[in-house]
Amino acid sequence: MSAPAILPGATLGVMGGGQLGRMFVHAAQRMGYFTAVLDPDPDSPAGRVSHRHVHADYLDEKGLAELAGCSAAITTEFENVPAPALAKLARLKPVAPGADAVEIAQDRIREKAHFSRCGVACAPYAAIETQQQLDAVPAALLPGILKTARLGYDGKGQQRVATREQLAAAWAAAQRVPCVLEQLLPLAAECSVIVARGADGTMVHLPPQLNLHRDGILAVTQVWEGALPREQAQQAIAAAESIARGLDYVGVLCVEFFVLADGALVVNEMAPRPHNSGHWSMDGCDLSQFELQVRTLAGLPLAPPRQHSAAVMLNLLGDLWFDGDKPRTPPWEAVLQLPGAHLHLYGKLSARPGRKMGHLNLTGASAQQARGTALAAARLLG
Ligand code: ADP
Ligand code: MG
Repeated sequence: MSAPAILPGATLGVMGGGQLGRMFVHAAQRMGYFTAVLDPDPDSPAGRVSHRHVHADYLDEKGLAELAGCSAAITTEFENVPAPALAKLARLKPVAPGADAVEIAQDRIREKAHFSRCGVACAPYAAIETQQQLDAVPAALLPGILKTARLGYDGKGQQRVATREQLAAAWAAAQRVPCVLEQLLPLAAECSVIVARGADGTMVHLPPQLNLHRDGILAVTQVWEGALPREQAQQAIAAAESIARGLDYVGVLCVEFFVLADGALVVNEMAPRPHNSGHWSMDGCDLSQFELQVRTLAGLPLAPPRQHSAAVMLNLLGDLWFDGDKPRTPPWEAVLQLPGAHLHLYGKLSARPGRKMGHLNLTGASAQQARGTALAAARLLG
């Protein structure tokens, strides 16, 4: 039998105070929960809106004890939360997702091994942890992308290599830390699926999302019936569900996929938390990914989410706050005149190029309408 639900009025804890934590906190508070955030930064986006903010390092014993002491259950909002911290918390309070799942997602080598255990194909790759492994890399993997096994995000920690010489130089530049070399695949499209799984094994998912990246960072997500061919959409859902089941996962999990030129679907990576590509659900769906995270953590029922509007999500990066070198305020008033425009800003105190400052959801009754509004918004933002 699963544990009784944690009901509104209780406090839900979060490891990490970034924008994902902030949107979790908002969703939890809307449902009547109190919240506690652990993050060392006093200005963290989630810490600033939470009822309680524990300013402590992620491995600080006292900070962890304080978070566990005031929370009925604890979740995480960024993937590089040290797994030992989650394991420590789990001895005191329910923690979801668990340290094991987070640890696998933190390491591309272990992650890919998990995908193959679940029978889901990923890009051909080789793990590179030793000189012997570097020397033995099959020629078929070139040209490829060398990715650090740990701590990469938004395309950071990645280098494209075409020859063995470039590969050796790239590995040296990466300080010879454990890496994977992936074959560079001809991508027709990229998509992702968000699944939410409860402690009792109930699983629901959001509709598959079509994603466009710019410079390794998600730029645009589009979600409507037919954005992805039905067969690939169904394959992606089945793969994401089997990956979550294989981890005995509890919480919200995002799985990212590549669609190849020949239509084949291969898995890219997973994130053990809500994901940038699921932000559209805040305005285009009757259950957002953050409410799903609250429900899985609290042990509340998981109804299947229903999309009610076609949606486009535009990421708002810090670059928009500059006109050349000159700081500026993006043209919010013009943007918000567009019907179906929903602005989300994360309350970050300073903008930097490439920094995720917020996102804009554009919703419509049809794909055409949402796309038209998104194009108008993109033109206004420049
Ligand atoms: P991150 O953890 O930084 O998001 P990803 O592995 O998802 O790293 O790579 C970022 C982006 O780089 C992908 O979304 C995709 O556009 C591109 N990319 C990554 N791996 C490959 C590959 N094997 N072939 C072609 N493009 C790739
Ligand atoms: Mg990625």
